[in-house]
Amino acid sequence: MNIIIIGAGPSGMVAAINAKNESNNVILLEKNDRVGKKLLATGNGRCNYTNLSLSEKNYSSPDFVRETLREFSNEDLINYFKVLGLESTSDGKRVYPITLKANSVLNILMYWLEKKGIDIRTNTEVREIKNNKKGFDVITNNEVFKADIVIASFGAKSMPVSGSDGRSFEILKKLGLKISELKPALTQVKLESKYLKHLSGTKVLGSAKLFKENKKIDERYGEILFTNYGISGPPILDLSVNISEDNYLEVPLINNIDEKTLEMLYNRYYMFPDFSLEEYLMGIVDKKFIHYIIDFLDLDKKTAMNMISMGDFEKIIEILLKSRFKVIGTTGFKNSQVTRGGVDLSEINSYDYSSKKFDNLYIIGEALNIDGDCGGYNLHFAFACGYRLGKMLSEKNS
Ligand SMILES: Cc1cc2nc3c(=O)[nH]c(=O)nc-3n(C[C@H](O)[C@H](O)[C@H](O)COP(=O)(O)OP(=O)(O)OC[C@H]3O[C@@H](n4cnc5c(N)ncnc54)[C@H](O)[C@@H]3O)c2cc1C
Repeated sequence: MNIIIIGAGPSGMVAAINAKNESNNVILLEKNDRVGKKLLATGNGRCNYTNLSLSEKNYSSPDFVRETLREFSNEDLINYFKVLGLESTSDGKRVYPITLKANSVLNILMYWLEKKGIDIRTNTEVREIKNNKKGFDVITNNEVFKADIVIASFGAKSMPVSGSDGRSFEILKKLGLKISELKPALTQVKLESKYLKHLSGTKVLGSAKLFKENKKIDERYGEILFTNYGISGPPILDLSVNISEDNYLEVPLINNIDEKTLEMLYNRYYMFPDFSLEEYLMGIVDKKFIHYIIDFLDLDKKTAMNMISMGDFEKIIEILLKSRFKVIGTTGFKNSQVTRGGVDLSEINSYDYSSKKFDNLYIIGEALNIDGDCGGYNLHFAFACGYRLGKMLSEKNS
């Protein structure tokens, strides 16, 4: 069988390695001048490729991913890399290569692509796929490839400079496949606040809540980071896909708020009557938040706590526990880690990623309308479907 794989990202590379056998000739087409460009940027260059706490609930379409995760778990992926020759380590629940370098993952995949004799064609961009009685013609900028089986692993639209710029969906649209609307996900959020420059670089651990009018839409826990344009960090990235411009975010300014925090704040109020407001805040929040709180509430930092009215103290508590910021958008596809939308799941059989319309056409990885939370879930899905499909095609034609 002649198998053409479109796109040498994580899903395409692993599909190629596993599909190749004596009966399957595999050609991997990549429009960039090298393979795995985006992989190198993952996890801040460390490649967080799976998570020790992995479930279908971490994905936008739990029903679709259920079988994939059952058949290829986090342990399976860790073991798979071990067998390929790469050890792992973890930071909390996030799993990385033991080197903490994404290029170790890419290098090991490139070693196996070469060892298996995969024909890799870089600088080769697929422009069109034509289906005929004998299979497919895959038309590129260089030549036309004949294929019995086509795997589309061309990613989606996030970080377009990596090569996945969303244009390749036109190829499948032309074949009549439904593509659902593309939206940036796992992206930083822009806020409207005159304090951003001042707050930039400040971190807090807690729950970020997203509100539309007075209704809470979503809530995520983790490290929240203020930046000069707005706000970032894993919980913000996870919320970002649901954001629209009429929303606001509520975040704490004190780390790890629990049921005792309010009591602690009142106790301090009575324990330190001679403290100035600035001194009261110094022991509980990052210094940068102090200026923000005092300026925002138009108070004087030198005022002694016993001169602060209960009304003003309650306002201080409110801002410490629930600071509200108006959302003005996200930083878009350019800075998003994953795309919501893509090949509509109604077009695809979830057990083997095959097209319902065309025999021998398969779609895997981020090109599908599946996105996962921040924390290794997207790479897990890309690797898992690449592995499973590759193995199925190898077993079918052995
Ligand atoms: C900055 C950043 C950090 C990330 N960090 C993490 C992380 O730590 N953990 C995690 O789980 N996920 C992370 N992700 C998400 C993860 O990288 C993607 O979900 C994953 O790469 C998707 O793999 P893929 O193989 O489906 O597609 P891609 O990696 O997008 O690969 C698709 C390939 O196809 C090529 N291509 C596109 N069109 C054509 C065409 N017409 N012809 C030929 N080639 C084509 C592209 O050039 C590209 O090389 C991150 C993403 C970004 C942008």
